[in-house]
Parts: sequence; structure tokens; C-alpha cells
Amino acid sequence: MRAPAAFGVDAGSTTCKVVAVDAGGELVASRLEATRPRLEEQAAALVGALCGDLGLDAAPPVAATGYGRKLVREASRRVTEITCHARGAFRALGHGGTLVDIGGQDAKAIRIGPDGRPVDFAMNDKCAAGTGRFLEHTAARLGVAVADLGARALAAAGEEAISSTCTVFAESEIISLIGRGADLDAIIRGLHRSLVGRIVAMARAVGLAPPLILSGGVALNPGVRAMMEEATGMRVLLPQHPQLMGAYGAALLALEG
Ligand code: ADP
Repeated sequence: MRAPAAFGVDAGSTTCKVVAVDAGGELVASRLEATRPRLEEQAAALVGALCGDLGLDAAPPVAATGYGRKLVREASRRVTEITCHARGAFRALGHGGTLVDIGGQDAKAIRIGPDGRPVDFAMNDKCAAGTGRFLEHTAARLGVAVADLGARALAAAGEEAISSTCTVFAESEIISLIGRGADLDAIIRGLHRSLVGRIVAMARAVGLAPPLILSGGVALNPGVRAMMEEATGMRVLLPQHPQLMGAYGAALLALEG
């Protein structure tokens, strides 16, 4: 295995990730787990576990990102998610574009310049309806696994319109749709349409310069990807590990010192 030269930790609101890169910036190992309340201890344990996986006695330089980055005491550098996702996706794909990162609790649209640095961004961290939380919440209400939502949305024969702009009201709408005997998959499809509408409006705020790139955990949802392509008329590109892009970008920045 290539020798690990730096670690990146992304202490997110929903998942905590750690990535190791070699001296050339290639991703060599990673770990991801659901975020727990004691983030400081969790990040330390995650760094220790990755060291164990790689047979290291001590961690190489570490940079941290994510909402809990200040709690990562192993980090010698702390960098915003905007910079890290931009850097990670730029390196993974080899070009810039408009990157949309949809995480558990927020979503960002970032225009990446020709050197991999963000040149403009827009962010939603106020309203759950444009984030992964919206999908998680409604998946739990519908008794469907989050990982199955996208495929079910795409397989739906019809689509129920969800008009509420708020997670709480959308949930009431879902309950009355279920009460009226609406098809579950059609409801799921409507939920995706609603989320994608919000995301695309945010992305348009930074100019939607092609290509369109997706990162964050919600990039793993094929329904969101397909509906974003429909809504924008643009192809959506994905890095190989979309959910790890923040941690990967942090590791690349740790490598630079
Ligand atoms: P954060 O970095 O903000 O903690 P992530 O980028 O890890 O969050 O994204 C978490 C979100 O990703 C979840 O809310 C969920 O909607 C989505 N997600 C996670 N795994 C999957 C999966 N396998 N398929 C579809 N969506 C997923």
C-alpha cells in the first residue's frame, strides 16, 4: 500500500469521516460513521482507528473541516467545508465547475475556479427542506431506508406534488396524502422534486457554470441526481467518493501544510 502522508477529518452534523492520502494526494484509506454527541472523542477515536488500519504508530499531519472542526484536537489546520469540498472535487475530477454539496444539515453551491479554489458560493443552513435531513426525516416517516429513496422515486409511476416549503408542513402533507391512499413512491418522487427545486434555485444564485458536480451524502441518491439533470438540462458529474470530498480536500490541504 502507498504510504499515508496526511489525514483529513470532516466532522459533519450527520456523519464523521476521516481520509488518508499519500504524498501524491491519492486517497489510500477512509472511515465514515454516524456523528455521535461527543464529537471530540469520536474524531480522536476515528483518527486512531485509521492509524490502526494503516499500521501507523502516530497520525501524519491532520486538517479538519465540517461544523465540528474546532473539536478535532489532532488537527493542525482547520478549513471551511466550502474550501475543502472545492479542493477535493477539483482534484478528484481534474477540473472546476459548479459544485453542489448536499449534506445532512446544510447545502452549498460553490463555483470552483481554474485553480481549485472557490470563487463564489451560496449556502442554505437555515431550512432543513433543502438538505439531507429532509429526506432522512420523511424516509423515517414513510418507513423507507434513506438509501432506497432515490430508486423508489425514479421507479414511481406518478408524482404527488408537495407544495409546503417547510419540513414540518411537508410532513403534514405527506400524512394527508397517505390518508387519501396516495402511492408511496409517487409521494417520494414529489419529495425529491421539492428538494431539487430548492437546491437548483440555490445553485442558480452562483451562476451554474458547467459542468455541474455533486458531493456530500445526498449525491449518493440517484433520484436527486436524475432530477437535477432534468431541472437544469445539464449532466451531473460525481467524484468517485462524493461523501468523502470534504475530508479528502482537508487531507490535501494538510499535505500542503
Ligand atoms: P454531513 O457531512 O453534513 O454530516 P453527509 O454529507 O454525510 O452529511 O450527508 C448525509 C446525508 O446523506 C443524509 O442526510 C442522507 O440524506 C444522505 N445519504 C447518506 N447515505 C446515503 C445513501 N447511501 N443513499 C442516499 N443518500 C444517502
